[in-house]
Amino acid sequence: MSAIFNPRYESMNREDLQQLQLERLQATTNRCYKNVPFYRRRLDELQMQPEDIQSVEDLRKLPFTTKDDLRRSYPYDLVALPLREVVRFHLYSGTTGAPTVIAYTANDLQHWTELVARNLVAGEITREDVVQIFFGYGLFSGGFGLQQGAEEIGASVLPVSEAEMPQQVKIMQDFRSTALIGLPPYALHIGETIRQMGMDPKELPLRIGIFGAEPWSEERRAEIESRLYIRACDIYGLSEMGGPGVAGERPERCGLHLAEDHFLVEVIDPLTGEPVPEGQAGELVFTTLTREALPLLRYRSGDLASIDTRPCGCDRTSARMSRVFHRTDDMVIIHGINVFPEDIARVLGEFAELGEHFQIVVDRPEGLDELEVRVELAGSLPSDVTNLVLRTREQMERRLRQELGMDVKVSLLEPRSLRGSGDAYQRVVDKRTVGLCGPKTDNLYTRRMLPQYAK
Ligand SMILES: [Zn+2]
Repeated sequence: MSAIFNPRYESMNREDLQQLQLERLQATTNRCYKNVPFYRRRLDELQMQPEDIQSVEDLRKLPFTTKDDLRRSYPYDLVALPLREVVRFHLYSGTTGAPTVIAYTANDLQHWTELVARNLVAGEITREDVVQIFFGYGLFSGGFGLQQGAEEIGASVLPVSEAEMPQQVKIMQDFRSTALIGLPPYALHIGETIRQMGMDPKELPLRIGIFGAEPWSEERRAEIESRLYIRACDIYGLSEMGGPGVAGERPERCGLHLAEDHFLVEVIDPLTGEPVPEGQAGELVFTTLTREALPLLRYRSGDLASIDTRPCGCDRTSARMSRVFHRTDDMVIIHGINVFPEDIARVLGEFAELGEHFQIVVDRPEGLDELEVRVELAGSLPSDVTNLVLRTREQMERRLRQELGMDVKVSLLEPRSLRGSGDAYQRVVDKRTVGLCGPKTDNLYTRRMLPQYAK
């Protein structure tokens, strides 16, 4: 049996866990109502009092909190304590609007440290390990969170951060690093550099990697494992919940165990806001249970995953979440089917006549959803354009129907018409009038990456 960092909480029986969650939820709701005018207003509007929370299920009566709510409260309208209690801030700047501010008390930092330590122990990192962290250290919280957690379990930590590549590898060699922690694409880059430097990763003592802060696929995982000759584990967190440490994976891959004693997790249909049955994918919604400086009620993460509360072979009793591959920003639900731009991109890739940009337009003209894919033609076209357009359109509509299981209207556009002057364009245009479509914003914990590694 592999080690567990805090068996008292990580292996707590689920009845006791639920009781603990209820007590902490009541305390959190109270703290929000008493100390945060934003939440007091929200609850007053709903004619609710913190005392109305009598069971964990009563959580659903509480309002959602969105990324925009956090941005609008810049710099610290949502902070629930006087600033003298706050010992640290982390800031996340997005592509638009004000940054998101995350505040921590000394207790918050201590909890965060423990939660990351739990994830690292689940990933089988021990005090014997030499841990090289290449997350950034700064306003972004990833580096600090992992640093604290790794030190907590007594590992030897090298905060190499975003050092130049050859130096990164030299340190790995000289200090005999056994574990790597950072962004998945950066890990691939390290693997590439090792090879370019004429070394064989098999001869390095590396054995494990903990990667996260952005979604990464199973294909990418296999690539990292074979290039670096390690086992790669996923770690999940989000800035609004304090950073990394929300859930972590074991090398056996039984899912990512959630820290349910610190976060209440719901899975909702992003369109209706209603809960989905267990095992079904939906948007993850988090309520903090122990945060003092920045308690948040029902924060909509925009991350899509499913949850499994069945007992797990590793003796941890907390629910396990699936890995996050998609975000609500890009997903559209049509006739109850989740459609992702990636699914459409895969089909479009089969057609050489097409350019690289496309747009998904969803409408509901007669009360029925309609999906249109608008795609640019490639730059150089033959003289017989009309014929080509007709033929390509027909083939594409057939292939998309096969792949997505629904009728799709294809519109072919002139080359570069979607993105004329190199400006960004809207990938998904949803014209249906639905209110609860989720925050169309980026979660900066999962989105933040170094520009040169962004894909
Ligand atoms: Zn497990």
